[in-house]
Amino acid sequence: MGKIRETTLQIDLSALEHNYKYLRSKIAAETKFLAVVKAFAYGSDMVAIAKKMEQLGVDYLAVAYAKEGSLLRDAGIKTPILVLHPLPSNFDEIIDRCLEPSLYSRKIFKAFLEVAKAKHQKAYPMHIKFNTGLNRLGFNETDVDWVAEQLKVEKEIHVVSIFSHLAASEDLEEKSFSLDQINTFKKISENLTEKLGSTPMRHMLNTSGIINYAEAQFEMVRSGIGLYGYGNDAKIDAQLKPVASLKTIISQIHHIEANETVGYNRAFTSNSSRKTATLPLGHADGIGRQYGNGKASVLINGKKAPIIGNVCMDMIMVDVTGIDCQEGDEALVFGQNKSAEGFAQGAKTISYEILTAISQRVKREIIAS
Ligand SMILES: *Cc1c(COP(=O)(O)O)cnc(C)c1O
Repeated sequence: MGKIRETTLQIDLSALEHNYKYLRSKIAAETKFLAVVKAFAYGSDMVAIAKKMEQLGVDYLAVAYAKEGSLLRDAGIKTPILVLHPLPSNFDEIIDRCLEPSLYSRKIFKAFLEVAKAKHQKAYPMHIKFNTGLNRLGFNETDVDWVAEQLKVEKEIHVVSIFSHLAASEDLEEKSFSLDQINTFKKISENLTEKLGSTPMRHMLNTSGIINYAEAQFEMVRSGIGLYGYGNDAKIDAQLKPVASLKTIISQIHHIEANETVGYNRAFTSNSSRKTATLPLGHADGIGRQYGNGKASVLINGKKAPIIGNVCMDMIMVDVTGIDCQEGDEALVFGQNKSAEGFAQGAKTISYEILTAISQRVKREIIAS
């Protein structure tokens, strides 16, 4: 990877391909694969990632909101796109842009049906979400009869798949809960199949589900975080390659004496003479204030430099005492050789949060494979 000149998120498409192949190796060859590219592809670059996934032959893409799907269509993406969390006001756009909604309640179902009718659709593809214990979005098991009845009579729409989502797929202490969710989903699908006389595609597993419950892969799996290089488990992380690397360069170096302070509210007080480096990224770039005051660090010339004092909007200061470095040198915030999961853990959060936090102000650089 080339040298950077400003704060840059480098996105390595060969790492994406590696992760995709790794996750595919955990499931049967005939199982379909849906790549979750919501939230700018977990804070990276949604269009670049979707294009690469399309080229790799992925079966489906998923976004959270309709406007994310429209951005993909604007970029020429042809792969089917599941919209996980549509709202009634999105249904015109969803049909106009050939997006496929997840319908998760009677209210949403009826609202979509009305728009499909008004737009004279025939068998418009959509997906039904069932709640099996996460209690976030989805029809309940007791709604199966109602859903089946609708699907039989309403010809404007067609159910492509039914799906559910695990609440704690990464946590093996919750294994019996996850197995209950899987069983509930099986019962729902058997019941629905019996009433419909046909079986829609079924899917339940996210990344950690693929790793821990591959027996429940059904006809498709849905992966996000694993594609981006993180597996909610150190052993899996070792097999994956981080796609996004956040790098910056030292703007200024200061030498301070004992009892001097650094940054807003004088949050850091030096206990000896120290060398500090100011870096051009802050909470407006996604490095939240929770990472300040020693909770996280960056890597400069291979050495750890903790963030000192409060994170500013556009800058952080790091302690580089004893590190051979100068203005213009590169600092790695996270990425290949420095896990975003580790960075996140310092502030008691998870890779998902730090990755998706990197704001659109940060330059993206795509590294083609
Ligand atoms: C975000 C999301 C996923 C992806 O989960 P990962 O843990 O990132 O693999 C899968 N399914 C649904 C419903 C989601 O909202």
